[in-house]
Amino acid sequence: MSQYALKTLLPSYLARQQERIEGIARDFGLDPFPTIFEILAYDQMTEIAAYGGFPTRYPHWRYGMEYEQLSKSHEYGLSKIYEMVINNTPAYAYLLEGNSLVDQKLVMAHVYAHVDFFKNNFAFRATDLDNTGHLTDPMARPDPFEPNRRWIDKMANHGARIRRHMERYGVTAIEEFIDTCLSLDNLVDPWRPFTGTPTPRNEDDDETAVEVPRLKSKDYMESFINPASYLEEQRKKIEDAHNKKKTFPEEPVRDVLSFLLQHAPLDRWEHDVLEVIRDEAYYFIPQMQTKIMNEGWATYWHSKMMTEKILDASEIIDYADNASGVTATSGKQLNPYKLGVELYRNIQERWDKGQFGKDWDDCDDLEVKRHWDMRLGLGRDKIFEVRKIYNDVTFIDEFLTPEFAIEQKLFAFSWSERNGRFEINTREFQAVKDKLLSQLTNAGNPFIYVEDANHDNRSELMLRHRHEGADLRPDYAREALRALFRVWKRPVVIATIVDDRPVYLRYDGKEHKSEDAPKAEVESEEKED
Ligand SMILES: [Zn+2]
Repeated sequence: MSQYALKTLLPSYLARQQERIEGIARDFGLDPFPTIFEILAYDQMTEIAAYGGFPTRYPHWRYGMEYEQLSKSHEYGLSKIYEMVINNTPAYAYLLEGNSLVDQKLVMAHVYAHVDFFKNNFAFRATDLDNTGHLTDPMARPDPFEPNRRWIDKMANHGARIRRHMERYGVTAIEEFIDTCLSLDNLVDPWRPFTGTPTPRNEDDDETAVEVPRLKSKDYMESFINPASYLEEQRKKIEDAHNKKKTFPEEPVRDVLSFLLQHAPLDRWEHDVLEVIRDEAYYFIPQMQTKIMNEGWATYWHSKMMTEKILDASEIIDYADNASGVTATSGKQLNPYKLGVELYRNIQERWDKGQFGKDWDDCDDLEVKRHWDMRLGLGRDKIFEVRKIYNDVTFIDEFLTPEFAIEQKLFAFSWSERNGRFEINTREFQAVKDKLLSQLTNAGNPFIYVEDANHDNRSELMLRHRHEGADLRPDYAREALRALFRVWKRPVVIATIVDDRPVYLRYDGKEHKSEDAPKAEVESEEKED
């Protein structure tokens, strides 16, 4: 057991329930890591929640603030911390002291499904600490699969490193720099653990003379075959290529934090702090990529296990109250638990009935579709496959169909005179689905790349925002620029598009400026349109 565990182990009546529920989960085919439950008083629970689930993370005011918020909302009855579980080997999960036995059983069932998801969904392979040599195939895994995910220990070590710096350089300086790094912590490459992108190298190429290759010709033909204009053109091409090669980095770098770690003029302690923040940012990425799927999976299974195996008749009523609290949609807000669990149920039904494939897609007789049942019984296998190889973006993209949206009343309907019934507007459906997908892509964060570390030949750092329809939020851009300047210690530029115009947002340590992008860039933008 981790030396950092809180050692607040379960009383024996709960330990017996845990053993029973784990058995039920495994009988259903779930495959979780070993899981340790601890029971916590309410204030311990909120404190750990405020540290992102880690009782031993570095001390920092930002977490203190979140703790305040959480405890207030509880007092006013606005929210209740439902469950907390850590992707770690072994997994850790916390039960709230004073909850009813039915609640505790529900949380345990829910947790086992989360831990199954951590172990089996491909995105979480990025958190295997023993696989630092770049995973290229997250689907391939050793059997038995016992990865090192001792993140509780790792984060405790991070905490110790940060505290050492605080003792030496003062709390204020370190906190200020942690803040700086935290405002950049979404500038990482979520796919880096899988793509095997080599670390960009800083190598000084040999200076090679620019020599124009000539078409072979006898001397007297020279001016005819290689006219001055041709030579001039070739020279320019080579120079361009040469100059291009000289830009550093050679290719845009999406893992901005890694670039800064390698190339920013950082003191040793600054380097250490930035490294900690980057490591932890990578830990949380798979959770952001699979929020809908992960919560949906846990809800699907706790609901199934509770009603079919765990509860006795006298407990059912108490349970029904709780369950409605979990899956209710609040107003027009899309509830990820609800969307996820209903999608799994829909997939299961479709694959049980054979409602997929070419014949299904080609059929446009709604009556036939309504009664379509080939009795294939493939539903259970399908949802286990889905939980393994999808993330939220691909899950929604592939399985959120207009039929599902109608059934779940996800979107507005309009009356169709022609068909004599309420129908979903297909164009509206696509627009809303696209919007949902774009919110999920990159967890809603902008795509920003390091483009040039020697911008304008003045060692300024230039980044580029890949504009995908939405402008950068001005407050976000200013905060990022300030933080980048703090780390790079030279002026920083983000090239982006504001109100359809290419602009350079610049910060020189004193003031923010927005300048029109150079003319060449504006023209190439226009050409692309
Ligand atoms: Zn959950």
